[in-house]
Amino acid sequence: MTKTKRAPQRTCVGCNVSKDKKDLIRIVDTEEGLRLDVTGKMNGRGVYVCPNKECIALAQKKNGIKRSLKKNIDNEEISALFEELTAYEKESV
Ligand SMILES: [Zn+2]
Repeated sequence: MTKTKRAPQRTCVGCNVSKDKKDLIRIVDTEEGLRLDVTGKMNGRGVYVCPNKECIALAQKKNGIKRSLKKNIDNEEISALFEELTAYEKESV
């Protein structure tokens, strides 16, 4: 069996699927609250999630973000993430 070099893998906190880091979006716990880290360069504790609302919603439902970051995430913060993701999707089209 030949081993191919693989890109760094991260697990989505929503659907729990491991994917290439570049195929996931990072959610970072900043001083201003949760932010989508579209550049992958923001400082702070982060979790990875698929770039879709379903996985962010799933992560919230399963408390995946809360567990990973060890803090409470209120629904307002999740709504803000949704808005950021919508803006991000528009930019990347
Ligand atoms: Zn996912």
